[in-house]
Amino acid sequence: MDGFNVSPDDMDLEKRFRSPLLLIADELVSTIRSWSLKLVLGCVAVFCLIVILANQFMATGEKQEERRQVVEHLYIDFDKDNSPSGTLVLDSDGVAHLKKMLVWRSEKVKNGDNLSALFQRAGISTAQIYDLSASPGGDLLNNLSPGEQFHMGLDSNNTLIELQYVKSPLLRYIYDNHHGHFQVEKRTHTADVLYGYRKGVIKDSLYNSAKRAQLPDNIIMEMANLFGWDIDFVFDIREGDEFAVLFEDRFLHGERLNAGDIIAASFTNRGKTYRAVRYEHRDGSARYYSPEGLSMRKTFLRTPLDIFRITSGFNLRRKHPIHKKIKAHRGVDYAAPRGTPVYATGRGKVVESSFSKPNGNFVFIQHGQTYMTKYLHLDARKVKVGQTVSQGKVIGTVGSTGYSTGPHLHYEFLVNGVHQNPRTVELPKANPIDDGERERFDKISKALLVRLEIRGQASQNDE
Ligand SMILES: [Zn+2]
Repeated sequence: MDGFNVSPDDMDLEKRFRSPLLLIADELVSTIRSWSLKLVLGCVAVFCLIVILANQFMATGEKQEERRQVVEHLYIDFDKDNSPSGTLVLDSDGVAHLKKMLVWRSEKVKNGDNLSALFQRAGISTAQIYDLSASPGGDLLNNLSPGEQFHMGLDSNNTLIELQYVKSPLLRYIYDNHHGHFQVEKRTHTADVLYGYRKGVIKDSLYNSAKRAQLPDNIIMEMANLFGWDIDFVFDIREGDEFAVLFEDRFLHGERLNAGDIIAASFTNRGKTYRAVRYEHRDGSARYYSPEGLSMRKTFLRTPLDIFRITSGFNLRRKHPIHKKIKAHRGVDYAAPRGTPVYATGRGKVVESSFSKPNGNFVFIQHGQTYMTKYLHLDARKVKVGQTVSQGKVIGTVGSTGYSTGPHLHYEFLVNGVHQNPRTVELPKANPIDDGERERFDKISKALLVRLEIRGQASQNDE
């Protein structure tokens, strides 16, 4: 039973998992050969006894395996640094074992990185890279994304013993080297979700005002998207407009991870308040609705531009310079830096994508029978005639082609062939929530809106 006499510290992985039964059998065979026949019967009895004992040892071995898993769960719960230290862990016997001395190296996935490039930086042999790729779960390593992390536990021969592939704070894969074969295990964490609340007043741009109110960037974007069907954030936003947002704030082990989705929000634009709540349907899909149960998503966006690309040097009180110079104007002009993406405001079919002397590069989109939108003076066109585009699809970029005095987008909105003011035109009514969801929606949305209201009052009291 040599395997159990050495201290666990000195055992290598192979011996730790080798069956004690095989060792016993080896010894028995050689001993029996040298003994006389008389003793064989007695030996059989002894053998039986040993088998029973060995089985018990096996069971203990399995327990050790379980324990090892638990210890490793604890062990990997924090991120490794580069310090070459063994980690002292206590097993349930209260005996201190020094986890095999591994040198840990960490590598972050860079742009254009692949497994070989990354592992070569870490000095891992080509043979091991191959073993890893060929192992079950090796295919997970084929598509690395920038920012993901690898922690590599190497022994003194620079052999990879354990690999942690950290896809996100909530998901990692552990590759364990068992006799040169890697076994993969998936580890997931669940974030604690709290409700975050922010409110603010527009002083300059939407972005700067929201930043001052400490809204996370993705929540600012979400808020603009959420109300972007109703509010033209380029032209119609005013100093004194107000917003309030209730959103998922996600934590892991007490540390803030990121912001999730908006749960409920309100935006008061020029005295009119728009409200939205996130509602999860019975089938698990989620959408935003007004308190009346009308979808926030409408047939047309108010603004055909990525508004956050316009905000630099954006002045709420400044009159538009180009608008005044062009007579017989039948659309809206958005001054924006050259190259700013231009969106299709609604789903439709591209009926023109061309160049003319007055319009420069232009795109026309037909939306059903009734509506048409036109986009003029583009720097580049990104769609072809006949192509179907979805709402929000980039159809071109802002430029100054044709009769134009500077980079801007000229946008027209036609209803049955007649020009309308895109900023004030009555747009098709939004779809209401399904009848089958109505009752449940009313309950949930009311609770969320009350919550939004109460948080607003509470933060008022704080001020
Ligand atoms: Zn114009």
